[in-house]
Amino acid sequence: MTISRTTDTTSTLHLKVPNNLSSSPNLSPLSSPKLSPLSTEQIPEPFGLQTPLTPTFHFSFSPQQPPIVTISLEIFAKICEHLTPLDIINLSKVCKQYRDYLCSKTSAASQAIWRKARTQFLIYPRLPPPQGMDEERYIKITNFDKRCEFCGTNEPGSTRLYWEFQTRSCDPCLLERTVIHEEILMANRIPTNVLDTIPCVWIRGGAFPVPVHRYYWTEEVESTIESWDLQPESELIKWLSRRVIHHKAFMSEVSRHYAEDQKQWSDSYILQRKNKGVSAPL
Ligand SMILES: [Zn+2]
Repeated sequence: MTISRTTDTTSTLHLKVPNNLSSSPNLSPLSSPKLSPLSTEQIPEPFGLQTPLTPTFHFSFSPQQPPIVTISLEIFAKICEHLTPLDIINLSKVCKQYRDYLCSKTSAASQAIWRKARTQFLIYPRLPPPQGMDEERYIKITNFDKRCEFCGTNEPGSTRLYWEFQTRSCDPCLLERTVIHEEILMANRIPTNVLDTIPCVWIRGGAFPVPVHRYYWTEEVESTIESWDLQPESELIKWLSRRVIHHKAFMSEVSRHYAEDQKQWSDSYILQRKNKGVSAPL
């Protein structure tokens, strides 16, 4: 069985119905083990209206197999429009078919489902995802999964979201995967003006060996050096100009996300004080 990742409304998705649906009094699967496909008139709201496709439902019940239902992707997407992000996360864990459809990073329809849930049910984030990040990851990394993406630690306060690297990490894992500005310059493998087009974070104190320094994602430094080395001499200026423009736009986006994080924290702080009956500080 294949699942289309386009918005083609003629496509269908074969979905496993959650077990509790099989006990629905409207469907009565146990008392009617040989159900025929429903006619359009028989299809209950909201499934029977709003589409000229006349979707068919095929129920198959047996003690060994879960019931299967076939509905169009369009109808499935319509149902998902009413679900919260957490509902969709849980739905994506029900079966492979759900996961393949909902977690497709390249499907406009799937991305629209997550976007709708985010804007409808979450206060933050309000900004669109940063370039290169899909909606599902954006929602999870900002709201539902505070673990370090590398070691999985979930100690309160032990991880931080680094928008420059689009990752959530603890300090030790970040140190393993980054290199400081001075080390890169000492290696003398890349000019300073090229290094300045690579995102970095300024880290002050904490568990880091150097109090204040710029940390670069090692993989990104290496890929930039590789790209630099591959450029013909005649193309270097153009290549660098493009990187400067891209870097400026990227860091501007990073700043907007940090500003929104700050706003979210501030809103949360004020709300906590209100709940405790304390006036927010001026
Ligand atoms: Zn870690």
